[in-house]
Amino acid sequence: MKRNLNQKLISLVDYYSSINADFLISNNPLIRKSYSVSETISGTKSEKLEKLKKKIQLIKNCELKKNAKNLVFSDGNINAKIMIIGEGPGANEDSEGKPFVGRAGKLLDKMLTAIQLDRKKVYISNVVNYRPPNNRKPTELEIERYLPYLISHIEIINPKILLLLGSTALNSLVGNDVVISKARGKWINKNIGASKPWIIASFHPAFLMRQPEQKKLAWIDLKMIREKLRVLKIH
Ligand code: URA
Repeated sequence: MKRNLNQKLISLVDYYSSINADFLISNNPLIRKSYSVSETISGTKSEKLEKLKKKIQLIKNCELKKNAKNLVFSDGNINAKIMIIGEGPGANEDSEGKPFVGRAGKLLDKMLTAIQLDRKKVYISNVVNYRPPNNRKPTELEIERYLPYLISHIEIINPKILLLLGSTALNSLVGNDVVISKARGKWINKNIGASKPWIIASFHPAFLMRQPEQKKLAWIDLKMIREKLRVLKIH
């Protein structure tokens, strides 16, 4: 019986090693949101980001990666005090290897301009770094898989303000017990790994394109960010 159990454990460890999921092996229960791959990453900020990018490139047996053209890691200023997280790359992002370069990205740029921001003043990434086929939402398993990398990404950038665009970013980082319509427009008190940013959620620009009447609420959220920047003296 004992031997049987040991054998099962060894097979499980082999399986997780084969898919490069070292973060899944832990004595702690698997609790979403508490993992990061940062401990194994050292160097300057840009070196850390490069190492993180390489780790993501090494992910194995991932359906998203198999179907995607490019890794979509980030865009913007690595020293920005505001980090923005979307859901996952679409077709344009997959082709260019950059987040938010399609229609939703154009709207995001307009939203940023409205509060005197642009891509030189923010840093942008997504919950998953490869395009989900047919622009479907990433599955729970895919989110779990990329979350340790996302948490590390946030730890490395260590933003003062973290803007979560849409329910996938909100639920992945804050929890599944919150809904975007209720959580948006409020500062959320939560640490992300070792990082302690001011967190705010707002509607995803793709949602705003489908429901333009919701833009007035997104504008309230943007103004909250503008005010926080003023209070924190971030220029
Ligand atoms: N939608 C996202 O969530 N992210 C992108 O990069 C593009 C569109």
